[in-house]
Amino acid sequence: MNNPKTKKNLLVIEDEADILFSLKSYLESEGYEVATAENGKEGLTFLDEHPMPALILLDMKMPVMNGWEFSEAYRRKFSLRAPVIVMTAAADAEARAREAQANGWLGKPFSLDEINSQLQKFLGAQ
Ligand SMILES: [Mg+2]
Repeated sequence: MNNPKTKKNLLVIEDEADILFSLKSYLESEGYEVATAENGKEGLTFLDEHPMPALILLDMKMPVMNGWEFSEAYRRKFSLRAPVIVMTAAADAEARAREAQANGWLGKPFSLDEINSQLQKFLGAQ
């Protein structure tokens, strides 16, 4: 059982409401505390106002501020940073992740197994 006091905080930055909703629901069902932002700018505002989460899941193509712009600003603004996992439908997801200097990547559409393996890799057992 998860102790609510030790819940890990995640930030999901994604402009597509369906994906954002299902990802949030799934991660919460796995015992994480999940904050959401609809674009990079909202994500940066959240980070300005809250403690650094344990992990950030980042979409790349978003209005207002995309994933590349977010990553650049994030790296400039914060010295103690959470790992970032890029979520992209691009054919070469790994290259997109490298461009954004992300720690990991998920190629859309991704399976629960793929999410779980990234969570395991960066956060260990929940
Ligand atoms: Mg998008």
